[in-house]
Amino acid sequence: MKVIIVGGVAGGASCAARLRRLDEKVEILMVERGPYVSYANCGLPYHIGGVIERERSLLVASEKTFREQFAIDCRTRCEVVGVSPGKKTVELKNHVTGEVTTERYDKLVLSPGAASVRPPLPGIDLPGIFQVRTVPDARAIREWIEKGTLFLSGMNSYSGFQTVRPKTRAVVVGGGFIGLETAENLVHRGFDVTLVEMLDQILAPLDQEMARIVEGYVERHGIRLALNDGVAEFKKTANGSLEVLTKSGKAYPADIVIIALGVRPETLLAKMAGLEIGERGGIRVDEQMRTSNPDIFAVGDAVEVKDFVTGQWSLIALAGPANRQGRIAADVIAGRDSRFRGTQGTSIIGLFGAAAAWTGASEKTLNRVGDKDFEKIYLYPNSHAGYYPGARPIAMKVIFRKSDGRLLGAQALGEDNVDKRISALAMALQMGATIYDLEETELCYAPQFGSAKDPVNFAGMVAADVLRGDMPISHWDSAGKGFLLDVREPAELAVEHAPGAVNIPLGQLRARLGELPRDREIHVICRSGGRAYYATRILLQNGFKARTLSGGMLSRYHALLLVN
Ligand SMILES: Cc1cc2nc3c(=O)[nH]c(=O)nc-3n(C[C@H](O)[C@H](O)[C@H](O)COP(=O)(O)OP(=O)(O)OC[C@H]3O[C@@H](n4cnc5c(N)ncnc54)[C@H](O)[C@@H]3O)c2cc1C
Repeated sequence: MKVIIVGGVAGGASCAARLRRLDEKVEILMVERGPYVSYANCGLPYHIGGVIERERSLLVASEKTFREQFAIDCRTRCEVVGVSPGKKTVELKNHVTGEVTTERYDKLVLSPGAASVRPPLPGIDLPGIFQVRTVPDARAIREWIEKGTLFLSGMNSYSGFQTVRPKTRAVVVGGGFIGLETAENLVHRGFDVTLVEMLDQILAPLDQEMARIVEGYVERHGIRLALNDGVAEFKKTANGSLEVLTKSGKAYPADIVIIALGVRPETLLAKMAGLEIGERGGIRVDEQMRTSNPDIFAVGDAVEVKDFVTGQWSLIALAGPANRQGRIAADVIAGRDSRFRGTQGTSIIGLFGAAAAWTGASEKTLNRVGDKDFEKIYLYPNSHAGYYPGARPIAMKVIFRKSDGRLLGAQALGEDNVDKRISALAMALQMGATIYDLEETELCYAPQFGSAKDPVNFAGMVAADVLRGDMPISHWDSAGKGFLLDVREPAELAVEHAPGAVNIPLGQLRARLGELPRDREIHVICRSGGRAYYATRILLQNGFKARTLSGGMLSRYHALLLVN
């Protein structure tokens, strides 16, 4: 059997290596149009920033490794330019010699990835405007930056006129992962960075109130955000630098521009082969990564997959799913019954020492698909025992099914061990866990690592209290006009308070119950929800209608960010 794999990076390379491990006899040809196979595109922003100094650190395995260790015929600078499913052949163009040859296959695996979105805006091809997709892209950016700065470093002792300015102003277009990671790295390189984003938030998969926290954080670290604005045009100015003109009429000067507007699946070959393309524009595959042609498989950024929570088709450009899908395609070709479980979109981004991570469905996704059977909680547990140095709060939003407690999604932000919590929740979610399972989950604990009640347990306990009726909750959008009872100490109110809230500190509550209405729902607030929960329990057991305002004053801060 002969298997041809198109694309030699995440999905393609993992498929090739797995297939060889499963079958010593199969003939494998892996074709990559770029100069490298199996490189770490996830590391590119950090190479631009100088964190990963050497380019060769990004090259995980070479053409030689594939040939010698895996006996795979691996060809770089070679592009598949045609497919004939009837004849089961592909046309290969060697970009070094220009030669075009035909190769026959028994099974074809497409892992061509996704292409960066590059709208036909005036000036988009001007020198100094880059995308971050490949090793040569990162090299070109570094060279562009260094061309200016190296010249200037040679000018230190020169007393004449300075004719070249350093490249210090950057505009990043797009507030997704790649845009933000590159923006952070440009800040580290001394750039004054403006990030222009057409949506009214960065990191679109996050719910807006959670994204607002990240926005405040990156702004404090030097990224100027221009939200709700799209780029209209790029111009070269009289002094040779660039200018980014936006739809709202603003002009941002720039010495370098990074376009990070997201990606779209590479479907050219699939269309050539007459394969079914799905409603989201990706190649349609089944759970075994088989396309509408049983001899052609497709994996990675190019395919549509089912969302694990909503069951809807989605496009997910992430390395983990691409690698797993490559493996599954290899398994199936080798005769094994492997299946892709769907994607949860589990993601993380590190920014200036903090992290934002999420898994599963967001509230806005559930609203979009018309799912009303869910509840959400906000909590702010410490990353580890508060008495051990270095504990940092984690802002968490956990979404679960009201009817049966099934975990549907989680988002978390913080400066310490956010990844650990979202990874645990992602695993739980894939196993179909409920919030009652989270209550009982047994996790590592010593004071420097967690708490006896880990944030994951804590999320389960709070959510379970809600579903068991021990802690009815409300949220700021619905509670704002109700009777608000603030159980914090007066000194805390001096810092910030909710207008109209009656203050009875928790310690005085039992003695002052007579001051509270019995005919109205009472929404109880404290800083983050803990004291409000105790107060709610006191009130409920004394015959009041009470609800804990989830997340307390900390989640009010989110709500306020949304209206301001
Ligand atoms: C800058 C950057 C940072 C990222 N960071 C993260 C991260 O932190 N975490 C994460 O999960 N994901 C991250 N990703 C996404 C992740 O890299 C992709 O989801 C993953 O690489 C997709 O794998 P793939 O095999 O589908 O496509 P790719 O890895 O993109 O490989 C596709 C390859 O196919 C080749 N190709 C296309 N057409 C042809 C053809 N006709 N003939 C021959 N070769 C062809 C292309 O040249 C390309 O090299 C990042 C991506 C980028 C660009």
